[in-house]
Amino acid sequence: MTIGALFDQTVKRYPDGEALVVRHQNVRWTWQELRTRVDAVAAGLLERGLKPGDRVGIWAPNCAEWVIVQFATAKAGLILVNINPAYRVAELDYALNKVGCAALILAPSHKSSDYVAMLGELAPELAVSVPGLLNAARLPDLRLVVVLGETEHAGCLPFAALAGKDTGALADIRLDPAMPVNIQFTSGTTGFPKGATLSHRNILNNGAFVGARIGLTSRDRLCIPVPLYHCFGMVMGNLACAVHGATMVYPAEAFDPGAVLETVEAERCTALYGVPTMFIAALQHPDFDRFDLSSLRTGIMAGSPCPMAVMREVIDRMHMDEVTIAYGMTETSPVSFQSDTDDPLDLRVSTVGRVQPHLEVKLIDLGGNIVARGETGELCTRGYSVMLGYWDDAERTADALDADGWMHTGDLATIDEDGYCRIVGRIKDMVIRGGENIYPREIEEYLLTHPDIVDVQGVGIPDEKYGEEMCVWIVARAGATLGEDDVRAHCRGRIAHFKIPRHILFVDGFPMTVTGKVQKFAMREQTLKLLK
Ligand code: ATP
Ligand code: MG
Repeated sequence: MTIGALFDQTVKRYPDGEALVVRHQNVRWTWQELRTRVDAVAAGLLERGLKPGDRVGIWAPNCAEWVIVQFATAKAGLILVNINPAYRVAELDYALNKVGCAALILAPSHKSSDYVAMLGELAPELAVSVPGLLNAARLPDLRLVVVLGETEHAGCLPFAALAGKDTGALADIRLDPAMPVNIQFTSGTTGFPKGATLSHRNILNNGAFVGARIGLTSRDRLCIPVPLYHCFGMVMGNLACAVHGATMVYPAEAFDPGAVLETVEAERCTALYGVPTMFIAALQHPDFDRFDLSSLRTGIMAGSPCPMAVMREVIDRMHMDEVTIAYGMTETSPVSFQSDTDDPLDLRVSTVGRVQPHLEVKLIDLGGNIVARGETGELCTRGYSVMLGYWDDAERTADALDADGWMHTGDLATIDEDGYCRIVGRIKDMVIRGGENIYPREIEEYLLTHPDIVDVQGVGIPDEKYGEEMCVWIVARAGATLGEDDVRAHCRGRIAHFKIPRHILFVDGFPMTVTGKVQKFAMREQTLKLLK
């Protein structure tokens, strides 16, 4: 089935059910009301000369128009290209040209970001062009620029004027579930983001299975404070809701712990998504106890490991007894492992649950052989969720996808007798010191047992004698007098001597991606500079 066909089916089943609530825009639409807007925009994009298969970029923080455009492009056979609202001119240039966007839908301005001005730096021709007929030297494929909001901008079509009349034309578009519908850039945790090309089959199925694991139904109201430009929002959020008829509830343009708590209470949300850092921020909110969160039942924490103490508080203080952990990556639509809502607590923290239906997984060693049960190996997945490839990047596609259809994730994992998977770390982050493998995550977890260590991240850096040495960055508790010797003393006799970090740095924080992940490649670069 295609996303458009599924969407229409949901509208038919729940015409008056609430589809979308966007608190900061006062939007509250039923499925029927959302469909009217989706169809108008889908028709409008075609009437403006776009053809099925053309790429349409969207560069905006979370908003109702984002949701409309997501379903409209899918219905019109266009390929939506998610562009991170934190991107600046150079990254926008890369994204638009990498995939040859024919249209760009962008926010006017947001806090300190003036999107139209940034686009203008790349395409000064915009100021004098007729809307829909851009001809810019540096953006040769881009013809149509659409701006959200009320204000007029030279060369740009206002979003309200995009609505088309001939929605009947949509019925003539022949679509196949195997066609690409979306290009999503990876987070950029390990380097420059890659554009994963995903089909209707890829992401629609993933939305269906992810939603099924947490038992989403048309009675559920899902609070989505995660970004739409990432699969967490648009697939695990929007598509899961569209499949199961649940309500998509957006608290704010970008993550704001106060807005999340307020929204859950006011909208009586039953489910909540986030990366662990977001749950931590919500739990630490000074007014946390003032909010009534008793409507919450379930949700998903994904993207990075969740500490036990956080999971406990999410269950005890946020009432999310059925919270699950999910593991995935942009290239696999994204989720391939997820816990069940009734898995024992320790398994929900120490593992990422069991494999999603209809997917195959294997763990392999460096030689490509399947490792014994319980041993560590590179996680590979195969099945409906595996991307079509990286757009216009045959080389990196061939590195990630092998001839038999296996996606090599670059993540190290173990799988136990019952099928529960533990993510051990990333291959790129593994430190090989004098022939011994060290997994930074193991050292990080051990060091966190020290009462004066609030947060810690480890990386390997080149070393003449041992090949690589461990370096840890430590955020110490405020007021603590923690020195390198105290850290080493804490390790001595408790972890193998070769794992005791050679370099210890005290810091205030780590370089992060906008999705809240630590960029170890940036830590490595900075460490090398510091130690020089
Ligand atoms: P890039 O590929 O650009 O370096 P990225 O891999 O962080 O960035 P994403 O596709 O957003 O981009 O994230 C997928 C990765 O996040 C996985 O490969 C894995 O390393 C990590 N990850 C996802 N979920 C979990 C989880 N539950 N526990 C631990 N790690 C996770
Ligand atoms: Mg990745």
